[in-house]
Amino acid sequence: MTETPRYTVVIPTVGRENLMSLLARLDSAAQETTRPAEIIVVDDRRAPQPPLVLPPLSVPIRVLRSGGRGPAAARNIGWRSAMTEWIAFLDDDVLPSPTWPADLVTDLGRLTTAEGASQGRVEVPLPQDRRPTDAERGTAGLAQARWITADMSYRRTALAAVGGFDERFVRAFREDADLALQVLEHGYRISTGHRTVVHPPAGGTFFSSLRAQRGNQDNALMRRKYGRKWRQRIGEGPGRMRQHSAATIAATTALLLGLQRRPSAGIAAAGWAALTAEFAWRRIAPGPRTAAEVSAMVVTSALIPPAACLHRLRGEWRARRGWHLDTPEPPEAVLFDRDDTLIVDVPYNTDPARVQPVSGSVESLHRLRALGCRVGVVSNQSGVGRGLITAEQLAAVNSRVHEMLGPFDTWHMCVHGPSDGCDCRKPAPGMVRAAAAALGVSPQRCVVIGDTGADVCAAQAAGARAILVPTARTLREEVQHARETALLAPDLVSAIELALAGAR
Ligand SMILES: [Mg+2]
Repeated sequence: MTETPRYTVVIPTVGRENLMSLLARLDSAAQETTRPAEIIVVDDRRAPQPPLVLPPLSVPIRVLRSGGRGPAAARNIGWRSAMTEWIAFLDDDVLPSPTWPADLVTDLGRLTTAEGASQGRVEVPLPQDRRPTDAERGTAGLAQARWITADMSYRRTALAAVGGFDERFVRAFREDADLALQVLEHGYRISTGHRTVVHPPAGGTFFSSLRAQRGNQDNALMRRKYGRKWRQRIGEGPGRMRQHSAATIAATTALLLGLQRRPSAGIAAAGWAALTAEFAWRRIAPGPRTAAEVSAMVVTSALIPPAACLHRLRGEWRARRGWHLDTPEPPEAVLFDRDDTLIVDVPYNTDPARVQPVSGSVESLHRLRALGCRVGVVSNQSGVGRGLITAEQLAAVNSRVHEMLGPFDTWHMCVHGPSDGCDCRKPAPGMVRAAAAALGVSPQRCVVIGDTGADVCAAQAAGARAILVPTARTLREEVQHARETALLAPDLVSAIELALAGAR
C-alpha cells in the first residue's frame, strides 16, 4: 500500500476577508487522515501592519511575512519553509469544496514520480439572473486557465529543481504559468485533479480593466523567456496587442495630422473610431448592457489600447535592461551551529577523517560569501569539559571543517558542561553575541541556523533571527517551538533562501 501523500497548504495573502472563511473551510473539511501537515499563511502586506489575527484551528498554522514583494516572492517563502513533499498553493480569494482535503489526497495519491504538479478545478459562479459584466467574465476565464495557483499543488523537488517562482513577476499574473512551464521544461508532467475550489467573480470598478493592463509588462517578460509562441505554450489564444497597437497608431496619427490641419487626419480618426467601436462592442455585447457597464466599457475601450502599449513597452524595456528586484537586504552575518547543521553529527568526534559536510552546505556557504554576507560557527562542545575529547582533538576536527567548508569569518566554541553555569553554552546567548561583536555587526542583523531548540533560543535571547533545520534527532517540542516563534526549513539550502528573502 502506498503512503498517504503529506502536504502543506501555502496561502499568500494581502489580508483579504475571504482568508478567514478559507481557513475555516480547510479546518472543518480536514479529516485525521487527509488534513494538511500544516497551513502556512504568508502575509504579503507591506510593513508596518498589525499582525494578522487568525482563528484558532485544529490544523497547525504558521504565519510568515514577506514584506509586500508580490505573490511569487510570498509563495517562495512559504514553500521553502514547508516540511512536506507536496505543497498545495491556494489563493486567499478562493473557497475549497467541503471535500477538498480528501480529494487532494486522492489526486496526489494517483500521481507517479514523473508528475511534478497537480492542478485543481476552479469554479466561478456567475450570476444566473443577468448577463455577466466584463469583470465577471474576466474572472470566469480563470476556470479555463491552465496552471493557476488559485489551486495548484507542486512537488517540493520540482519547485527546488526550477528555483521556485520567478520573483520578477511582481503581480498575481503570469507567475503561475511561468512556473508551470519551467517545471514542464525540467521534464515533469502536470496533471489535472478532481478537487475543486470556488472563485467568486470579481466585482470590478469603473477603471479595473484599465488597471489590469499592467499585466502587459509581464507578457513582455514571458515573450522574452519563451519566444514568440509563448501564448500557445500556456494554452491561450492570441492577445489583442496588434489591435491595440493599430488603435494607438491611428489615434496618434489623427492627432498629429490634426495639429497640422491636414485633411487626412479625418481618415486616421475614422480608423481609430472604428477600431475602438469594435473593441467596445466586443465587450458590451456579452454583458448586461446597463448604463453603468456601457459607459465604463466605452471609456475604457478608448483608454486600454494606449495603456496596453505603454505597459508592454515598459515591460520590453525592463526585460532588455534587466529587472530591478525589490529584494530585501541580506543579513550581515549568518551563524551556523556545527554538528548536524554544517557537518553530520558524530557525537564527541575526535577523528577529522569522520567529518562529513551536510548536503548543500558547501553551496550554501559559497552563496552567502558571494553576496558579501559574513559566516561564522557557534558550537557547543561540552565533550571537552566532560573530558571526552581533548582541546587538540577538537581543534583537529575544526581544522578539517575549515578545510572542507571554510573559510569562516569567526569561530566560537563553548567547551563547558551544562552544569558549569557559563553564559556561552547555547541556549545562553553568549556565543551569538560574541560572534556578532567579533564581526562588528548587530545581533539583530544576524541569522542563526541550527538543528536544536538550544540554537533557536540562543539566537532569540541575543536578538538574532533563528532558523531551525530539524533532523530526525530534533525533539518534537523544539520543532513546535520553532514553528511558533522562529522560522523552520527542511534543509540548509531552503534555510539560506529564507534568510536571504528576509522571511519573518
Ligand atoms: Mg547541532
